[in-house]
Amino acid sequence: MNGYPQSNDYLPGTWKGLKLQGGQRSATVTCPVCGQTCTLIDHQIDPDGTVSPSLVCPYDCGFHEFIKLEGWADVPEKG
Ligand SMILES: [Zn+2]
Repeated sequence: MNGYPQSNDYLPGTWKGLKLQGGQRSATVTCPVCGQTCTLIDHQIDPDGTVSPSLVCPYDCGFHEFIKLEGWADVPEKG
C-alpha cells in the first residue's frame, strides 16, 4: 500500500479531488509511471483515503498498485 499526496498540479504519483454530480467526492490520480491522469469514479475511497479495488492504469503502462490518498480525510466537504 502506497500513500499518495494531494496536488493540484497533476504531478505523477499524486491525487486531486473531484466533485461529482450529487455532491459525492471522488478523485483523479496521476499515474507515477506514464504520467496520465485517470479518475477513481469506479473505485471506492474509504474515509481514511484507502482506494479499493487496487488501481490499474487505464493507459496500459503496467502500473498496478494498492494506493491510499494521503490527506483525503482532511479535505473538507464542500456544499
Ligand atoms: Zn500509467
